[in-house]
Amino acid sequence: MNEALAETKIFIDGEPRSAESGATYELRNPARPTELVGHAALASKGDVEDAVNAAHAAFPAWAALSYANRAEKLREIAAALSADEQAVAHRSELFTREHGKIRRETMLELSRLGDRFMQVAAFADRLASNEELGPSSMGPPFDTIITRQPRGVAALIVPWNWPLSILGAKLPQALLSGNTVVVKPAQNSAMVPSLTLKIIAELLPKGVVNFITGSAREIGDALVGHRLVRTVNFTGSIPVGRHVMRVAAENLTPVTLELGGNDAAIVLEDAELGPEAFQKMYLGTFSSSGQICMALKRLYVHESRYDEVVDGFRAACDRAVVGDGLLQDTTMGPVNNAGQLKVVTDMISEARAAGADVVECGQIPDEELYFGGGYFQRPTLVLDADQSLTVVKDEQFGPVLPIMKFSAEEQAIQMANNSDFGLCSSVWTQDAERAVRVAQRLEAGYTYLNNHGPMSQDGRAPFGGFKMSGVGRNLGYEGILGFTESHSITGPGGFLFKNLDTQ
Ligand code: NDP
Repeated sequence: MNEALAETKIFIDGEPRSAESGATYELRNPARPTELVGHAALASKGDVEDAVNAAHAAFPAWAALSYANRAEKLREIAAALSADEQAVAHRSELFTREHGKIRRETMLELSRLGDRFMQVAAFADRLASNEELGPSSMGPPFDTIITRQPRGVAALIVPWNWPLSILGAKLPQALLSGNTVVVKPAQNSAMVPSLTLKIIAELLPKGVVNFITGSAREIGDALVGHRLVRTVNFTGSIPVGRHVMRVAAENLTPVTLELGGNDAAIVLEDAELGPEAFQKMYLGTFSSSGQICMALKRLYVHESRYDEVVDGFRAACDRAVVGDGLLQDTTMGPVNNAGQLKVVTDMISEARAAGADVVECGQIPDEELYFGGGYFQRPTLVLDADQSLTVVKDEQFGPVLPIMKFSAEEQAIQMANNSDFGLCSSVWTQDAERAVRVAQRLEAGYTYLNNHGPMSQDGRAPFGGFKMSGVGRNLGYEGILGFTESHSITGPGGFLFKNLDTQ
């Protein structure tokens, strides 16, 4: 184990540097909050100014490259991110120590980022081909090209829960389409994103990728409201998303907001259930200790299968090993921070006080650690939960799940849609036609069939929310188009395409 204190810097205009004020802040291990893991630079408004100006200055040259050139850069970055196995292992260990999540998950995030750069690079040809509209006998007498242009400086704001995967849902997309960026990782998980972003930034012309760490209270508005920022792509909570939208509105800056979710899963009476399905439900709910926007957060089960689901799910939860994410046998680490732990434990206390059947599962090999002040909570089920409980109505973003019964498909759809959230959902059935029919009635941006969560997500498809779960889409082709403006160019019929055809 590498116990040396880490120290990370910000990166502006091709150079790593300390914050303008020289200030840093501490990051501590959520499994043992007395353990200092390292220090990250505490940027101030002057650093924001420098980062945005550097990105603005780098924009014309980066935007002038072809999509093919930029795609090639993305592929180089993907290769560099995984080139040095020892360095990847070191970053994975530091990631677990600063974040809490288990090693298998930090390794997965580190490798997924490169995959996302490769996936995005594959869209280069599609972006390069303009739509062409010639004159037709019925239509207007024009030749028109519809092309795409990058917006300019993109501010990318990332939360702590899946900082690298979420970075991969916005950074390669912004770069391929020709934008330059300023990234703001979350305060609670800043060091490994900084080390990773440094690798990326050093492979690009100076100013194309800049990043600043610190507290959004100090630098958030300065970044989002900067007059040279031409698009904001934010992932985080609903209250902050709403604030970001207000600040961006001052300059009419477009925003993409990926916000919270309260994903419903509907298990229909004909679902194929067994240990494999229960393990998928478990992972869809409790991976990363439940701190995933697209985690399963409300489980609605047809009454004829309810007991079977409760027994099977409980068995899967009982196999959980809760403890220090650095240990090989641990399958669930701590919650990332004290505030988030309190949200979860308050929900559990409220359910208990209301007389609900609350079951805490899983094994705790190291009770001294578990009860020693770390932000731990075992996987917890609230059975036959009343719809009025906070654990049903609000996003838990932690290891607790309510399970409810329904008697008819229509009722399940209504209960699933009875929420201000609308991020993801899932339908569990053996009947594909029924699955799609039910999915199309759910108010959610993504529906998984017979699975739930990040491991069952197709990165080629757009991702985002209905209702208060967000505005716009990340991932897929649509996620790239969000970083572009469309530009129509029209001439008299025969002028453009005759000339183009003869070139
Ligand atoms: P927050 O909204 O508190 O923070 C998210 C990011 O925004 C952090 O980088 C934070 O910086 C920054 N931020 C905070 N205030 C401002 C501001 N005024 N201007 C600009 N940036 C700001 O969310 P959490 O970090 O607590 O993340 C958890 C939430 O994110 C959950 O609700 C979850 O559902 C949601 N989420 C949604 C996802 C999706 O794809 N829909 C994916 C993952 C999470 P700092 O750390 O310095 O405060």
